[in-house]
Amino acid sequence: MNLIVKKYGGTSVGTTERIENVASRIIEDIKRGEVPIVVVSAMSGETNRLVSLAEKIDPQYRGPAYDMLVASGEQVSVALLAIALQKRGYKPQPLLAYQLGIHTDKIYSKARIQKIDGQKLIQFCQKGLIPIVAGFQGIDDEDNITTLGRGGSDTTAVALAAAIQAESCEIYTDVAAVCTADPRLVPQAKELYKVSFEEMMEMAGLGSKVLHIRCVEIAAKYGIRIHLRSTFESREGTWIVPEGEIMENPLVTAVTHDANTYVFTLHPTPEGTSFLADLFKKLAARGVIVDIITQSQTEKGQRLAFSVTKEDVPLAKQVLKETLPSTVNIETMEGMAKVSVVGMGMRNHPGVAATFFQILAQEDIPVQLVTTSEIKISAVISSQHLEKAAQKLSAAFSLVGGV
Ligand code: ASP
Ligand code: MG
Repeated sequence: MNLIVKKYGGTSVGTTERIENVASRIIEDIKRGEVPIVVVSAMSGETNRLVSLAEKIDPQYRGPAYDMLVASGEQVSVALLAIALQKRGYKPQPLLAYQLGIHTDKIYSKARIQKIDGQKLIQFCQKGLIPIVAGFQGIDDEDNITTLGRGGSDTTAVALAAAIQAESCEIYTDVAAVCTADPRLVPQAKELYKVSFEEMMEMAGLGSKVLHIRCVEIAAKYGIRIHLRSTFESREGTWIVPEGEIMENPLVTAVTHDANTYVFTLHPTPEGTSFLADLFKKLAARGVIVDIITQSQTEKGQRLAFSVTKEDVPLAKQVLKETLPSTVNIETMEGMAKVSVVGMGMRNHPGVAATFFQILAQEDIPVQLVTTSEIKISAVISSQHLEKAAQKLSAAFSLVGGV
């Protein structure tokens, strides 16, 4: 069987007309000999609407009821797509996470998939049914509904592909390809035909919203090639593949940004490492993902700065309040953004950091926090400078215009 997992995102199923379009497209694929397993997101805007309902009642709450609420959008899309396929004379098998046994841990709102019953899916296909699976959701060991983090339907799709050992996974979305930068910020950005798992993982972790980071991690681990493409066009988009499939790596492949960065600065903090160990342990226990951490010595003692995403700000504030002695001042820098350059090519070539900081210096853009890895450099800057930084960096690394 030519099993292919096909994930349709929120805009692809954003209206009933679009859902019918997806149904027609799936039928064309079947006629070409493919055996589809479909994963859908909630209709666009729906998950945000559900989140805001919960926030009206209690902005701090996270737990099973929150996940039950936000997971409900996917159920609607699954059912509507199933109805559209049924109307066209095909046999859909609508499936929620509990029906398929998508087991996760209990970290609500950021759960990780632990086990999926791939055989069950294959059996549906063998019976000539088209499985339509709700993305984003799972169940924990007490049968509570969990969710995989915003954008998590991509992860469901790749995890299903891994569970049935499919060779590739198609992610249908409203953009035609992964670009060298977000075209809303850098209109001259170019489309990429191939990106390595490693680069895509960095890009997803650094704020690119095109794919969920866990999805790329799973793809890399199980060698699932991802084909990201448009729902509204039939041409190919971007392939996310093992590094070995890419012949030549430019120095920098993409400029990525994250406009949702918050920086906490704590000053003066208690001396010694045990304070850090204790603080970050407590943040982790509450599911707060800490990004960049820097520590420096000042005249008035030790200073600690770290960044988190907007989502985690209320929780982080709460942990800081519970943990820190009253002698420590807490400052929050809002309206920050992270801009990064990513590329396998920088592994073996010096000078990328030099160009990166030179561009920011030329534009008079102050840098608050910096972090690097083998294949990326990131800086936290004020969001008012983000657009200019992204454009100038794209130009400096030849990521704009032409072919
Ligand atoms: N509906 C969820 C969200 O908006 C999951 C997804 O779309 O991937 O985050
Ligand atoms: Mg998405």
